[in-house]
Amino acid sequence: MQNKLFIDGRFVDAAARGTIDVLNPHDGSLITAIAAAEAQDVDRAVQAAQRAFPAWSRMGAAERGRLLLKLADLIEANAEELAQLETLDTGHPIRDTRGLDVPRTAGCFRYFGGMADKLQGSVIPVEAGFLNYVQRAPIGVVGQIVPWNFPLMFTSWKLGPALAAGNTVVLKPSELTPLSTLRVAELMAEAGFPDGVVNMVPGYGHTAGQRLAEHPDVGKIAFTGSTATGRRIVEASKGNLKRVQLELGGKGANIVFDDANLDAAVNGAAWAIFHNQGQACIAGSRLMLHDRIADAFLERFTALANSIRLGDPRSPDTEMGPLTSAQHRDKVLSYVSIAAEQGARVLAGGNAPGGELSAGYYVAPTIVEAGPRDRVAQEEVFGPFVTVLRFGSDDEALAIANATDYGLGSGLWTRDLARAHKLAGAIHAGMCWINCYKRVNPGSPFGGVGQSGYGREMGFEAMHDYTEARSVWVNVDAAMPPHFKR
Ligand code: NDP
Repeated sequence: MQNKLFIDGRFVDAAARGTIDVLNPHDGSLITAIAAAEAQDVDRAVQAAQRAFPAWSRMGAAERGRLLLKLADLIEANAEELAQLETLDTGHPIRDTRGLDVPRTAGCFRYFGGMADKLQGSVIPVEAGFLNYVQRAPIGVVGQIVPWNFPLMFTSWKLGPALAAGNTVVLKPSELTPLSTLRVAELMAEAGFPDGVVNMVPGYGHTAGQRLAEHPDVGKIAFTGSTATGRRIVEASKGNLKRVQLELGGKGANIVFDDANLDAAVNGAAWAIFHNQGQACIAGSRLMLHDRIADAFLERFTALANSIRLGDPRSPDTEMGPLTSAQHRDKVLSYVSIAAEQGARVLAGGNAPGGELSAGYYVAPTIVEAGPRDRVAQEEVFGPFVTVLRFGSDDEALAIANATDYGLGSGLWTRDLARAHKLAGAIHAGMCWINCYKRVNPGSPFGGVGQSGYGREMGFEAMHDYTEARSVWVNVDAAMPPHFKR
Protein backbone atom coordinates (compact mmCIF):
# COMPACT_ATOMS: atom_id res chain seq x y z
CA MET A 1 0.00 0.00 0.00
CA GLN A 2 1.51 3.32 -1.08
CA ASN A 3 1.80 5.98 1.63
CA LYS A 4 4.04 8.62 0.04
CA LEU A 5 3.58 11.62 -2.21
CA PHE A 6 3.45 10.93 -5.96
CA ILE A 7 5.53 13.57 -7.74
CA ASP A 8 6.98 13.37 -11.25
CA GLY A 9 6.17 9.67 -11.58
CA ARG A 10 7.80 8.62 -8.31
CA PHE A 11 6.61 8.00 -4.75
CA VAL A 12 8.63 10.28 -2.49
CA ASP A 13 8.74 11.47 1.13
CA ALA A 14 7.59 14.95 2.04
CA ALA A 15 10.51 17.39 2.18
CA ALA A 16 9.89 18.07 5.88
CA ARG A 17 9.42 14.30 6.49
CA GLY A 18 6.11 14.90 8.27
CA THR A 19 3.49 12.16 8.35
CA ILE A 20 -0.23 11.90 9.13
CA ASP A 21 -1.90 8.87 10.70
CA VAL A 22 -4.71 7.29 8.68
CA LEU A 23 -7.30 5.61 10.92
CA ASN A 24 -9.86 2.86 10.35
CA PRO A 25 -13.26 4.46 11.08
CA HIS A 26 -14.71 1.10 12.13
CA ASP A 27 -12.58 0.92 15.28
CA GLY A 28 -10.19 3.86 15.31
CA SER A 29 -7.14 1.64 14.74
CA LEU A 30 -4.11 2.83 12.77
CA ILE A 31 -4.04 1.69 9.13
CA THR A 32 -0.85 3.47 8.11
CA ALA A 33 0.89 6.84 8.26
CA ILE A 34 1.13 8.83 5.05
CA ALA A 35 3.62 11.47 3.98
CA ALA A 36 2.20 14.95 4.67
CA ALA A 37 2.71 17.37 1.79
CA GLU A 38 3.48 20.97 2.68
CA ALA A 39 3.90 24.09 0.57
CA GLN A 40 7.36 23.15 -0.74
CA ASP A 41 6.09 19.73 -1.85
CA VAL A 42 3.18 21.35 -3.66
CA ASP A 43 5.70 23.65 -5.38
CA ARG A 44 7.74 20.63 -6.51
CA ALA A 45 4.59 18.95 -7.81
CA VAL A 46 3.53 22.07 -9.72
CA GLN A 47 6.98 22.28 -11.31
CA ALA A 48 6.72 18.63 -12.42
CA ALA A 49 3.26 19.28 -13.88
CA GLN A 50 4.59 22.36 -15.70
CA ARG A 51 7.43 20.35 -17.24
CA ALA A 52 4.99 17.64 -18.35
CA PHE A 53 2.45 20.05 -19.85
CA PRO A 54 3.94 20.82 -23.30
CA ALA A 55 4.29 17.20 -24.38
CA TRP A 56 1.00 16.09 -22.81
CA SER A 57 -1.05 18.90 -24.33
CA ARG A 58 0.50 18.30 -27.77
CA MET A 59 0.00 14.53 -27.63
CA GLY A 60 -2.73 13.29 -29.97
CA ALA A 61 -6.09 13.48 -28.23
CA ALA A 62 -6.82 9.84 -29.10
CA GLU A 63 -3.55 8.83 -27.48
CA ARG A 64 -4.47 10.65 -24.27
CA GLY A 65 -7.83 8.91 -24.46
CA ARG A 66 -6.17 5.52 -24.93
CA LEU A 67 -4.26 5.97 -21.64
CA LEU A 68 -7.49 6.85 -19.80
CA LEU A 69 -9.18 3.78 -21.29
CA LYS A 70 -6.26 1.65 -20.14
CA LEU A 71 -6.59 3.13 -16.66
CA ALA A 72 -10.30 2.21 -16.67
CA ASP A 73 -9.33 -1.39 -17.55
CA LEU A 74 -6.77 -1.46 -14.73
CA ILE A 75 -9.35 -0.14 -12.24
CA GLU A 76 -11.62 -3.02 -13.24
CA ALA A 77 -8.78 -5.55 -13.08
CA ASN A 78 -8.03 -4.37 -9.52
CA ALA A 79 -11.65 -3.79 -8.55
CA GLU A 80 -11.76 -5.96 -5.45
CA GLU A 81 -8.56 -4.50 -3.99
CA LEU A 82 -9.78 -0.94 -4.61
CA ALA A 83 -13.18 -1.71 -3.07
CA GLN A 84 -11.53 -3.19 0.04
CA LEU A 85 -9.16 -0.22 0.34
CA GLU A 86 -11.96 2.32 0.00
CA THR A 87 -14.08 0.48 2.57
CA LEU A 88 -11.19 0.23 5.03
CA ASP A 89 -10.29 3.90 4.72
CA THR A 90 -13.72 5.57 4.47
CA GLY A 91 -16.18 3.20 6.16
CA HIS A 92 -18.38 2.83 3.05
CA PRO A 93 -20.08 -0.57 3.16
CA ILE A 94 -18.31 -3.04 0.88
CA ARG A 95 -21.54 -3.72 -1.03
CA ASP A 96 -21.47 -0.06 -2.14
CA THR A 97 -17.76 0.23 -2.92
CA ARG A 98 -18.00 -2.98 -4.96
CA GLY A 99 -21.33 -2.15 -6.56
CA LEU A 100 -21.07 1.62 -7.04
CA ASP A 101 -17.82 3.42 -6.26
CA VAL A 102 -15.41 1.21 -8.20
CA PRO A 103 -17.60 0.64 -11.30
CA ARG A 104 -18.45 4.35 -11.40
CA THR A 105 -14.75 5.23 -11.17
CA ALA A 106 -13.88 2.95 -14.09
CA GLY A 107 -16.92 4.22 -15.99
CA CYS A 108 -15.89 7.84 -15.51
CA PHE A 109 -12.32 7.27 -16.74
CA ARG A 110 -13.73 5.32 -19.70
CA TYR A 111 -16.23 8.05 -20.57
CA PHE A 112 -13.54 10.75 -20.63
CA GLY A 113 -11.12 8.41 -22.41
CA GLY A 114 -13.69 8.19 -25.18
CA MET A 115 -14.35 11.92 -24.98
CA ALA A 116 -10.73 13.01 -25.47
CA ASP A 117 -10.90 13.05 -29.29
CA LYS A 118 -14.54 14.18 -29.46
CA LEU A 119 -13.91 17.64 -28.06
CA GLN A 120 -14.21 19.88 -31.08
CA GLY A 121 -13.75 23.54 -31.75
CA SER A 122 -15.97 25.52 -34.11
CA VAL A 123 -15.91 27.79 -37.12
CA ILE A 124 -17.77 31.08 -36.69
CA PRO A 125 -19.57 32.69 -39.65
CA VAL A 126 -17.91 36.12 -39.71
CA GLU A 127 -17.42 38.83 -42.39
CA ALA A 128 -16.62 37.73 -45.96
CA GLY A 129 -12.94 37.13 -46.60
CA PHE A 130 -12.13 36.05 -43.05
CA LEU A 131 -11.93 32.66 -41.42
CA ASN A 132 -12.54 32.59 -37.67
CA TYR A 133 -12.10 29.34 -35.83
CA VAL A 134 -12.26 28.57 -32.12
CA GLN A 135 -10.07 25.93 -30.53
CA ARG A 136 -10.66 24.42 -27.09
CA ALA A 137 -7.19 24.71 -25.56
CA PRO A 138 -6.15 23.16 -22.24
CA ILE A 139 -5.64 25.59 -19.35
CA GLY A 140 -2.24 24.30 -18.20
CA VAL A 141 -1.52 23.02 -14.71
CA VAL A 142 -4.72 22.53 -12.73
CA GLY A 143 -5.05 21.98 -8.98
CA GLN A 144 -7.72 19.63 -7.65
CA ILE A 145 -8.81 19.19 -4.04
CA VAL A 146 -10.73 15.99 -3.33
CA PRO A 147 -12.66 15.47 -0.06
CA TRP A 148 -13.03 12.38 2.08
CA ASN A 149 -16.61 11.34 1.35
CA PHE A 150 -16.10 9.65 -2.06
CA PRO A 151 -12.31 9.82 -2.54
CA LEU A 152 -11.95 7.22 -5.29
CA MET A 153 -14.94 8.27 -7.38
CA PHE A 154 -14.24 11.99 -7.01
CA THR A 155 -10.64 11.41 -8.09
CA SER A 156 -11.99 10.09 -11.42
CA TRP A 157 -14.54 12.91 -11.74
CA LYS A 158 -11.74 15.43 -11.41
CA LEU A 159 -8.90 13.72 -13.29
CA GLY A 160 -11.00 12.39 -16.20
CA PRO A 161 -12.01 15.67 -17.90
CA ALA A 162 -8.83 17.54 -16.91
CA LEU A 163 -6.54 14.97 -18.50
CA ALA A 164 -8.72 14.28 -21.54
CA ALA A 165 -8.64 18.00 -22.31
CA GLY A 166 -4.83 18.06 -22.16
CA ASN A 167 -4.12 19.61 -18.76
CA THR A 168 -1.61 18.32 -16.25
CA VAL A 169 -2.67 17.98 -12.63
CA VAL A 170 -1.64 18.37 -9.01
CA LEU A 171 -4.30 16.66 -6.90
CA LYS A 172 -4.65 16.85 -3.12
CA PRO A 173 -6.57 13.93 -1.65
CA SER A 174 -7.97 14.42 1.83
CA GLU A 175 -5.44 13.41 4.45
CA LEU A 176 -8.25 11.41 6.08
CA THR A 177 -8.80 9.10 3.09
CA PRO A 178 -5.83 9.12 0.69
CA LEU A 179 -5.30 5.40 0.15
CA SER A 180 -7.45 4.60 -2.90
CA THR A 181 -6.25 7.76 -4.66
CA LEU A 182 -2.60 6.77 -4.12
CA ARG A 183 -3.42 3.34 -5.54
CA VAL A 184 -4.84 5.09 -8.62
CA ALA A 185 -1.49 6.90 -8.95
CA GLU A 186 0.25 3.51 -9.10
CA LEU A 187 -2.20 2.28 -11.71
CA MET A 188 -1.60 5.43 -13.77
CA ALA A 189 2.11 4.73 -13.79
CA GLU A 190 1.35 1.14 -14.85
CA ALA A 191 -0.95 2.38 -17.63
CA GLY A 192 1.93 4.46 -19.01
CA PHE A 193 0.96 8.04 -18.18
CA PRO A 194 4.10 10.14 -18.63
CA ASP A 195 5.89 11.34 -15.47
CA GLY A 196 4.53 14.58 -14.05
CA VAL A 197 1.17 14.49 -15.87
CA VAL A 198 -0.53 13.65 -12.56
CA ASN A 199 0.95 14.41 -9.14
CA MET A 200 -0.68 13.56 -5.81
CA VAL A 201 0.05 15.56 -2.66
CA PRO A 202 -1.96 14.31 0.31
CA GLY A 203 -1.72 16.81 3.16
CA TYR A 204 -3.66 19.21 5.31
CA GLY A 205 -5.99 21.73 3.72
CA HIS A 206 -4.60 24.78 5.50
CA THR A 207 -1.05 24.01 4.25
CA ALA A 208 -1.00 21.90 1.07
CA GLY A 209 -4.52 22.83 -0.07
CA GLN A 210 -3.98 26.50 0.61
CA ARG A 211 -0.69 26.55 -1.34
CA LEU A 212 -2.31 24.83 -4.31
CA ALA A 213 -5.17 27.34 -4.32
CA GLU A 214 -2.84 30.33 -4.22
CA HIS A 215 -0.04 28.98 -6.44
CA PRO A 216 0.78 31.50 -9.20
CA ASP A 217 1.52 28.79 -11.79
CA VAL A 218 -1.76 26.90 -11.32
CA GLY A 219 -4.31 28.01 -13.91
CA LYS A 220 -7.43 26.52 -12.37
CA ILE A 221 -8.45 25.11 -9.01
CA ALA A 222 -11.30 22.60 -8.72
CA PHE A 223 -12.56 22.06 -5.20
CA THR A 224 -15.16 19.83 -3.57
CA GLY A 225 -15.91 20.51 0.09
CA SER A 226 -17.66 22.92 2.40
CA THR A 227 -19.01 26.32 1.37
CA ALA A 228 -16.84 28.01 4.02
CA THR A 229 -13.64 26.50 2.61
CA GLY A 230 -14.88 27.22 -0.93
CA ARG A 231 -14.86 30.92 -0.03
CA ARG A 232 -11.30 30.59 1.27
CA ILE A 233 -10.29 28.98 -2.04
CA VAL A 234 -11.76 31.91 -3.96
CA GLU A 235 -9.77 34.32 -1.76
CA ALA A 236 -6.56 32.33 -2.25
CA SER A 237 -7.08 32.14 -6.02
CA LYS A 238 -7.17 35.91 -6.47
CA GLY A 239 -3.41 36.44 -6.81
CA ASN A 240 -3.20 35.12 -10.38
CA LEU A 241 -6.97 35.27 -11.09
CA LYS A 242 -7.03 31.52 -11.61
CA ARG A 243 -10.24 29.87 -12.70
CA VAL A 244 -12.23 28.28 -9.89
CA GLN A 245 -14.71 25.43 -9.95
CA LEU A 246 -16.60 24.78 -6.72
CA GLU A 247 -18.73 21.80 -5.77
CA LEU A 248 -19.90 22.69 -2.27
CA GLY A 249 -22.55 21.84 0.27
CA GLY A 250 -26.22 21.08 -0.18
CA LYS A 251 -29.50 20.71 1.68
CA GLY A 252 -31.42 18.60 -0.82
CA ALA A 253 -35.21 18.89 -0.76
CA ASN A 254 -36.75 15.47 -1.41
CA ILE A 255 -40.47 16.13 -1.85
CA VAL A 256 -43.12 13.41 -1.57
CA PHE A 257 -46.57 14.37 -2.90
CA ASP A 258 -49.82 12.72 -1.90
CA ASP A 259 -50.11 10.85 -5.23
CA ALA A 260 -46.66 9.24 -4.96
CA ASN A 261 -45.98 5.52 -5.02
CA LEU A 262 -45.27 5.32 -1.30
CA ASP A 263 -43.32 2.05 -1.38
CA ALA A 264 -40.89 3.49 -3.91
CA ALA A 265 -40.74 6.86 -2.14
CA VAL A 266 -40.04 5.37 1.31
CA ASN A 267 -37.20 3.28 -0.05
CA GLY A 268 -35.89 6.09 -2.26
CA ALA A 269 -35.96 8.60 0.58
CA ALA A 270 -33.96 6.21 2.79
CA TRP A 271 -31.41 5.74 0.02
CA ALA A 272 -31.28 9.51 -0.53
CA ILE A 273 -30.16 10.18 3.04
CA PHE A 274 -28.61 7.01 4.42
CA HIS A 275 -26.39 5.94 1.50
CA ASN A 276 -22.76 6.55 2.51
CA GLN A 277 -24.03 7.44 5.99
CA GLY A 278 -25.45 10.66 4.59
CA GLN A 279 -21.99 12.00 3.78
CA ALA A 280 -22.99 13.31 0.37
CA CYS A 281 -23.47 16.84 -0.85
CA ILE A 282 -26.55 15.73 -2.82
CA ALA A 283 -28.14 13.84 0.08
CA GLY A 284 -31.91 14.25 0.38
CA SER A 285 -31.51 15.77 3.84
CA ARG A 286 -34.81 17.69 3.87
CA LEU A 287 -37.60 15.15 3.50
CA MET A 288 -40.73 17.12 2.62
CA LEU A 289 -44.03 15.27 3.05
CA HIS A 290 -47.52 16.25 1.94
CA ASP A 291 -49.83 16.55 4.97
CA ARG A 292 -52.17 13.86 3.62
CA ILE A 293 -49.53 11.11 3.49
CA ALA A 294 -47.03 12.34 6.12
CA ASP A 295 -48.11 10.12 9.03
CA ALA A 296 -48.43 6.95 6.93
CA PHE A 297 -45.12 7.70 5.26
CA LEU A 298 -43.30 8.33 8.55
CA GLU A 299 -44.56 5.11 10.09
CA ARG A 300 -42.97 3.12 7.27
CA PHE A 301 -39.90 5.34 6.94
CA THR A 302 -38.97 5.19 10.64
CA ALA A 303 -39.49 1.41 10.65
CA LEU A 304 -37.15 1.10 7.68
CA ALA A 305 -34.54 3.42 9.25
CA ASN A 306 -34.62 1.47 12.52
CA SER A 307 -34.07 -1.78 10.61
CA ILE A 308 -30.96 -0.65 8.67
CA ARG A 309 -28.06 -2.99 9.42
CA LEU A 310 -25.19 -0.98 10.91
CA GLY A 311 -21.86 -2.69 11.28
CA ASP A 312 -18.37 -3.45 10.09
CA PRO A 313 -18.30 -2.04 6.56
CA ARG A 314 -16.22 -5.01 5.37
CA SER A 315 -19.17 -7.35 5.96
CA PRO A 316 -21.31 -7.88 2.83
CA ASP A 317 -24.47 -7.72 4.99
CA THR A 318 -23.74 -4.22 6.29
CA GLU A 319 -26.02 -1.49 4.94
CA MET A 320 -24.54 1.45 6.86
CA GLY A 321 -20.98 1.81 8.14
CA PRO A 322 -19.27 4.37 10.35
CA LEU A 323 -18.78 8.05 9.52
CA THR A 324 -15.33 8.79 8.22
CA SER A 325 -13.84 10.55 11.27
CA ALA A 326 -14.50 10.90 14.99
CA GLN A 327 -14.59 14.67 14.64
CA HIS A 328 -17.27 14.43 11.99
CA ARG A 329 -19.34 11.97 14.06
CA ASP A 330 -19.26 14.47 16.93
CA LYS A 331 -20.39 17.26 14.60
CA VAL A 332 -23.32 15.18 13.34
CA LEU A 333 -24.38 14.23 16.88
CA SER A 334 -24.19 17.88 17.96
CA TYR A 335 -27.08 18.56 15.58
CA VAL A 336 -29.32 16.29 17.69
CA SER A 337 -28.96 18.75 20.60
CA ILE A 338 -29.34 21.71 18.23
CA ALA A 339 -32.59 20.20 16.93
CA ALA A 340 -33.91 19.53 20.44
CA GLU A 341 -33.09 23.09 21.57
CA GLN A 342 -35.25 24.45 18.75
CA GLY A 343 -38.14 22.16 19.67
CA ALA A 344 -37.68 19.52 16.96
CA ARG A 345 -38.97 15.98 17.58
CA VAL A 346 -36.52 13.08 17.28
CA LEU A 347 -38.43 10.26 15.53
CA ALA A 348 -35.55 7.78 15.20
CA GLY A 349 -31.90 7.42 16.18
CA GLY A 350 -30.11 10.48 17.50
CA ASN A 351 -27.37 8.48 19.17
CA ALA A 352 -24.10 6.65 18.64
CA PRO A 353 -24.70 2.90 18.93
CA GLY A 354 -22.92 1.17 21.79
CA GLY A 355 -21.67 -2.39 22.19
CA GLU A 356 -19.16 -3.64 19.66
CA LEU A 357 -19.60 -0.51 17.51
CA SER A 358 -18.69 1.93 20.28
CA ALA A 359 -15.02 2.15 19.27
CA GLY A 360 -15.98 3.26 15.75
CA TYR A 361 -17.47 6.47 14.43
CA TYR A 362 -21.06 5.23 14.08
CA VAL A 363 -24.28 7.22 14.22
CA ALA A 364 -27.71 5.55 14.15
CA PRO A 365 -30.03 6.54 11.28
CA THR A 366 -31.62 9.70 12.63
CA ILE A 367 -34.96 11.32 11.73
CA VAL A 368 -36.11 14.62 13.22
CA GLU A 369 -39.21 16.66 12.48
CA ALA A 370 -38.63 20.42 12.55
CA GLY A 371 -39.72 23.77 11.14
CA PRO A 372 -38.40 25.03 7.80
CA ARG A 373 -36.36 27.87 9.36
CA ASP A 374 -34.78 25.71 12.09
CA ARG A 375 -31.04 25.19 11.86
CA VAL A 376 -31.46 21.49 11.05
CA ALA A 377 -33.55 22.51 8.03
CA GLN A 378 -30.99 25.06 6.87
CA GLU A 379 -27.47 23.81 7.68
CA GLU A 380 -25.73 20.87 6.06
CA VAL A 381 -25.34 18.12 8.67
CA PHE A 382 -23.66 15.68 6.26
CA GLY A 383 -24.60 12.57 8.18
CA PRO A 384 -27.36 9.96 8.50
CA PHE A 385 -29.64 12.72 9.71
CA VAL A 386 -32.81 13.73 7.90
CA THR A 387 -35.07 16.65 8.72
CA VAL A 388 -38.79 16.10 8.04
CA LEU A 389 -40.90 19.09 6.96
CA ARG A 390 -44.61 19.06 6.10
CA PHE A 391 -46.46 20.99 3.40
CA GLY A 392 -50.03 21.33 2.16
CA SER A 393 -49.80 22.52 -1.47
CA ASP A 394 -47.46 22.60 -4.47
CA ASP A 395 -46.80 26.31 -3.93
CA GLU A 396 -45.93 25.78 -0.31
CA ALA A 397 -43.64 22.86 -1.23
CA LEU A 398 -41.78 25.01 -3.74
CA ALA A 399 -41.45 27.91 -1.30
CA ILE A 400 -40.00 25.64 1.41
CA ALA A 401 -37.72 23.83 -1.05
CA ASN A 402 -36.25 27.11 -2.29
CA ALA A 403 -35.87 28.68 1.15
CA THR A 404 -32.21 27.76 1.63
CA ASP A 405 -28.98 29.29 0.36
CA TYR A 406 -27.97 25.97 -1.21
CA GLY A 407 -29.02 24.58 -4.59
CA LEU A 408 -27.50 21.21 -5.45
CA GLY A 409 -29.67 18.04 -5.47
CA SER A 410 -33.46 17.78 -5.25
CA GLY A 411 -36.12 15.11 -5.68
CA LEU A 412 -39.83 14.81 -6.49
CA TRP A 413 -42.07 11.82 -5.94
CA THR A 414 -45.37 12.10 -7.82
CA ARG A 415 -47.41 10.41 -10.55
CA ASP A 416 -48.51 13.77 -11.96
CA LEU A 417 -46.28 14.46 -14.98
CA ALA A 418 -47.25 18.10 -15.38
CA ARG A 419 -46.50 18.83 -11.72
CA ALA A 420 -43.19 16.95 -11.93
CA HIS A 421 -41.88 18.91 -14.92
CA LYS A 422 -43.20 22.23 -13.68
CA LEU A 423 -41.51 21.88 -10.30
CA ALA A 424 -38.30 20.41 -11.75
CA GLY A 425 -37.94 23.67 -13.65
CA ALA A 426 -38.75 25.84 -10.65
CA ILE A 427 -36.63 24.31 -7.89
CA HIS A 428 -33.45 26.28 -7.32
CA ALA A 429 -31.01 23.37 -7.77
CA GLY A 430 -28.44 22.08 -10.23
CA MET A 431 -30.03 18.62 -10.30
CA CYS A 432 -33.52 17.22 -9.89
CA TRP A 433 -34.53 13.56 -9.74
CA ILE A 434 -38.13 12.55 -10.43
CA ASN A 435 -39.29 9.28 -8.82
CA CYS A 436 -35.67 8.39 -8.11
CA TYR A 437 -32.80 10.05 -6.26
CA LYS A 438 -28.99 10.35 -6.49
CA ARG A 439 -28.66 9.07 -10.05
CA VAL A 440 -25.30 10.07 -11.54
CA ASN A 441 -23.72 9.32 -14.89
CA PRO A 442 -20.45 10.58 -16.38
CA GLY A 443 -22.38 12.10 -19.29
CA SER A 444 -24.73 14.15 -17.13
CA PRO A 445 -23.55 17.49 -15.70
CA PHE A 446 -23.19 17.57 -11.92
CA GLY A 447 -23.01 20.77 -9.90
CA GLY A 448 -24.95 23.42 -8.10
CA VAL A 449 -26.20 26.96 -7.92
CA GLY A 450 -26.13 29.55 -5.12
CA GLN A 451 -24.01 28.56 -2.13
CA SER A 452 -23.58 25.07 -3.62
CA GLY A 453 -20.96 26.43 -5.99
CA TYR A 454 -20.41 26.88 -9.69
CA GLY A 455 -18.98 25.01 -12.65
CA ARG A 456 -19.95 21.48 -13.60
CA GLU A 457 -18.33 18.09 -13.26
CA MET A 458 -18.90 15.39 -15.91
CA GLY A 459 -20.29 15.57 -19.41
CA PHE A 460 -19.29 18.06 -22.10
CA GLU A 461 -19.67 20.85 -19.54
CA ALA A 462 -16.75 19.45 -17.56
CA MET A 463 -14.56 19.25 -20.67
CA HIS A 464 -15.40 22.86 -21.47
CA ASP A 465 -14.66 23.88 -17.88
CA TYR A 466 -11.13 22.46 -18.33
CA THR A 467 -10.43 24.37 -21.54
CA GLU A 468 -10.08 27.93 -22.76
CA ALA A 469 -11.74 29.07 -25.97
CA ARG A 470 -8.98 30.34 -28.28
CA SER A 471 -10.25 32.40 -31.21
CA VAL A 472 -8.08 32.54 -34.35
CA TRP A 473 -8.74 35.04 -37.16
CA VAL A 474 -7.35 34.52 -40.67
CA ASN A 475 -7.53 37.02 -43.51
CA VAL A 476 -8.22 34.67 -46.42
CA ASP A 477 -8.93 37.16 -49.20
CA ALA A 478 -10.50 40.20 -47.56
CA ALA A 479 -9.71 43.57 -49.06
CA MET A 480 -8.21 45.64 -46.25
CA PRO A 481 -8.25 49.35 -47.06
CA PRO A 482 -5.46 51.06 -45.13
CA HIS A 483 -6.53 52.70 -41.89
CA PHE A 484 -3.90 55.38 -42.31
CA LYS A 485 -3.56 56.77 -45.84
CA ARG A 486 -0.07 58.14 -46.53
P1 NDP B 1 -13.60 21.25 4.15
O1 NDP B 1 -14.32 21.99 3.10
O2 NDP B 1 -12.92 22.04 5.20
O3 NDP B 1 -12.49 20.29 3.50
C1 NDP B 1 -12.59 19.71 2.23
C2 NDP B 1 -11.19 19.56 1.67
O4 NDP B 1 -10.60 20.84 1.53
C3 NDP B 1 -10.25 18.77 2.58
O5 NDP B 1 -9.36 17.99 1.81
C4 NDP B 1 -9.52 19.88 3.32
O6 NDP B 1 -8.31 19.46 3.84
C5 NDP B 1 -9.38 20.91 2.22
N1 NDP B 1 -9.14 22.26 2.75
C6 NDP B 1 -9.45 22.76 3.97
N2 NDP B 1 -9.04 24.04 4.09
C7 NDP B 1 -8.46 24.36 2.92
C8 NDP B 1 -7.85 25.55 2.41
N3 NDP B 1 -7.74 26.66 3.15
N4 NDP B 1 -7.37 25.54 1.15
C9 NDP B 1 -7.49 24.45 0.40
N5 NDP B 1 -8.04 23.28 0.82
C10 NDP B 1 -8.53 23.24 2.07
O7 NDP B 1 -14.60 20.23 4.77
P2 NDP B 1 -14.45 19.29 6.04
O8 NDP B 1 -13.73 18.08 5.62
O9 NDP B 1 -13.91 20.03 7.22
O10 NDP B 1 -15.99 18.97 6.30
C11 NDP B 1 -16.83 20.00 6.81
C12 NDP B 1 -18.12 20.02 6.08
O11 NDP B 1 -17.92 20.30 4.69
C13 NDP B 1 -18.89 18.71 6.07
O12 NDP B 1 -19.59 18.54 7.26
C14 NDP B 1 -19.79 18.91 4.88
O13 NDP B 1 -20.87 19.69 5.26
C15 NDP B 1 -18.92 19.68 3.90
N6 NDP B 1 -18.28 18.81 2.89
C16 NDP B 1 -18.87 18.73 1.66
C17 NDP B 1 -18.36 17.88 0.70
C18 NDP B 1 -19.02 17.76 -0.64
O14 NDP B 1 -19.05 16.66 -1.19
N7 NDP B 1 -19.50 18.86 -1.21
C19 NDP B 1 -17.20 17.04 0.96
C20 NDP B 1 -16.61 17.23 2.27
C21 NDP B 1 -17.17 18.09 3.19
P3 NDP B 1 -8.28 19.14 5.45
O15 NDP B 1 -9.07 17.91 5.60
O16 NDP B 1 -6.86 19.00 5.78
O17 NDP B 1 -8.91 20.32 6.15
